[in-house]
Parts: sequence; C-alpha cells; structure tokens
Amino acid sequence: MASPAYEQILEVQALDLNLTQLRHRLVTHPLRQQVAAAQKAVHDVQEVSGEIEDRRHQLDRNLKKLSDEVETIEAKRTQVDGKLYDGSVTGTKELLALQDEAAGLLDRQRGLEDQELEIMEQLELIDAELASARAELETAEAASRNVDDELRAAAAEIEAEIEAVEQERARTAAPAVPELLARYEALSGQFDGVAVARLVDGRCDGCHMQLSAVAVDQLGKAPEDAVVTCEECGRLLVR
Ligand SMILES: [Zn+2]
Repeated sequence: MASPAYEQILEVQALDLNLTQLRHRLVTHPLRQQVAAAQKAVHDVQEVSGEIEDRRHQLDRNLKKLSDEVETIEAKRTQVDGKLYDGSVTGTKELLALQDEAAGLLDRQRGLEDQELEIMEQLELIDAELASARAELETAEAASRNVDDELRAAAAEIEAEIEAVEQERARTAAPAVPELLARYEALSGQFDGVAVARLVDGRCDGCHMQLSAVAVDQLGKAPEDAVVTCEECGRLLVR
C-alpha cells in the first residue's frame, strides 16, 4: 500500500490514462471511416448525374439547333411556294426550277425532322438514366446522413464520458501534494502517461532496473510525501 500522497497521484494517473484512451477512441472512431466512405459515395453519384445532365444539355442544344433550322427551311418553303403560285413567275424553266427547289427543301426538312425524332428518343433514355441517378443520390445522401448522425451520437457519448472523467480528475487532483502533482505532470508526457512506478524489492517497475542499496536506503528514509524518483529512469517512485 502506497502512502496516501502517492495513492492520490496514482489515481490521477489512472484517470489521465483513461482520458487519453477516451480521446483516442474519439478521434479513431470506426464510424469516421464509414462517414468518409458515405460522403465519397454521394460524391461519386453526384459526378455520374452531373455527367448525364451534361449529355442532356448537349442534346437539348442539338435539338434546338435542328428546330431552328427546320423553321428557317419552312420560311424558305413558304417563300418558294408563294412564288410558284402567285403568278409572279411564268416561265416554264423558272417554274420547274422553283419546284425543284421546293422539293429539295422538303427533303432537307424531313431529314432534319428525322434527326429531331432520334434526339427525342435519346432524351427519353437519358431522362430515365437521370431519374435513376437522382434516386441513387437520394439513397446515398440518406445513408450519409444516417452514419453522420450515428457518429455524432457516438461522439457525444464519449465526450460526456470525457467530461465526467475530467471532473473526477479535478476532484482527485485537488487535494494532492502540489510538488508531487507538478512532478507527475511534468514527467507524464515523457513516459507515455505512466510517470509513477512502484518500487518492488528494490527494483523500479517502470524501467525494471535494480536500484543501488544506498538509493533504496535513502528512499526508505524519505518522508511519505517527499518527491522521490528512480535514479535510473526518473519516474516518481511509490514505496
Ligand atoms: Zn526506473
């Protein structure tokens, strides 16, 4: 049984180790990887639907171009038909030429209209693709929100635990001998949180070195709450 002064420091050390573990658990929580994976899934689906939308816009532009062309040709046909039937042209040769022109324009228009139909069919397929990509995106976003919420809840639990341990640590450290506490805190970072070792049969259980008989003798004579350290590693020694 250690002296009460050292018992307090050992308790503080145990709480500090607990805090270190809790903080580590908070930053390495396995749900973090799931959150990252879910966000990536959302991003991937967004990219796919963006690419489909780009293709759709391109088709829309092509369709608009074709329908503008059809309009121009229709206007031109109206003009040619007018000339054919308004009596302004009477020469047979000229009339035949106008008929040829009208037939050529009509051919061209039908060709363009066929292209329009093809594009409209492609648009239907793309709209179906887009609808399924959007549904996929909704699913991915919902999954991402869920795992996000799960992580938040898990983190909140750990944070609450950390807060409780921090309060307990403050209560435990308050009555500690200030010199001992200060030495422990100064050494703590150096020894991965385990700065207090026990002296067992003249051996430090921190560094496992056998202390000299003189050192052991001096340690035995030191007051209960004196700052005593291992001559080999420098850890605080509990006698
Ligand atoms: Zn030691």
